[in-house]
Amino acid sequence: MLQQTQVKTVIPYWNRWMRQLPTAASLAKADGERVLKLWEGLGYYTRARNLQKAAQIIQGQCRGKFPERFEDVLALPGIGRYTAGAICSIAFNQPTPILDGNVIRVLTRLFGIAGNPREKSTNARLWALAGDLVSCAAKTGVCGDWNCSHLNQAMMELGALLCSPSQPKCELCPIAAQCVARRTGRVEAIPHLNRPVRATARRFAAFIAENRGCFLVRQRPAGVVNAHLWEFPNAELTANSLPLNQVAELVLQATPADLQPLCVIRHTITRYRITLEAYRTTINRRLPNVGRGRWLAWEELEVLPFTSANRKLLGFCHPRPKDARRRDK
Ligand code: SF4
Repeated sequence: MLQQTQVKTVIPYWNRWMRQLPTAASLAKADGERVLKLWEGLGYYTRARNLQKAAQIIQGQCRGKFPERFEDVLALPGIGRYTAGAICSIAFNQPTPILDGNVIRVLTRLFGIAGNPREKSTNARLWALAGDLVSCAAKTGVCGDWNCSHLNQAMMELGALLCSPSQPKCELCPIAAQCVARRTGRVEAIPHLNRPVRATARRFAAFIAENRGCFLVRQRPAGVVNAHLWEFPNAELTANSLPLNQVAELVLQATPADLQPLCVIRHTITRYRITLEAYRTTINRRLPNVGRGRWLAWEELEVLPFTSANRKLLGFCHPRPKDARRRDK
């Protein structure tokens, strides 16, 4: 859950998850849609699917016991070198290095490394340094009984709390005397990172189509962003798009009554800045479920996993819309 996500965002998800799926065994046999529902809103949904695959491997091949060898942890779906190193050092006190954004900042500044940490040779040098430090901690016992665990956590915390990207709190730093970047006045210049890629703007229209109390939704296919999550039918709008009512007709595969604008939702996915314009309409002729599309009532919609933006649109499907409920209070 913590990959690409801050601790404060994760905590409520973690608590809810642990109440419902507290063991690898319960996760391994859970319904895939329930797993996605518990993850709903956290984004990067591949993590949830990988977590379940890993639980199934642990239950099957590892007979219910979490592997302890670095290579076996690394072989689990969704676990890369950093996560495997973090698990083996923090949980099992093994001398396995970690290198995330926080640790990169600490190491490049501490050793005055000017190269770009994303370039191969600099990255390899940083992994080697992180490996030397944790091996040294294991041999010397400098960090107490759980040397490797404590050293790696200390570097992560130092990067998160003091050695921040801008205006680091060097005056409070316990390694300030050894820090090359501080000594040479290069704290703000290190690490030397590429400029972030500028986000691309994209515009979509989503249609909340109703027919006798049911709404048309569809499940996203495998292999795309937000795979297997549910959404309202939608289409990207470009300069060459057809008029909106024709777009709606194509997407809904039916002739909609007039389109009422509902709301505009702005959000960002990876490098895209997305504007989602939502419209409500009525379909007079009852249509069958086709392909991944389903006509479902509010109670059925509520239990499905939706993408974050589409979950906001669900409020408009409630038998008593949000505004009416607010007026009643
Ligand atoms: S002295 Fe400043 S720049 Fe150096 S490691 Fe500490 S917080 Fe980071």
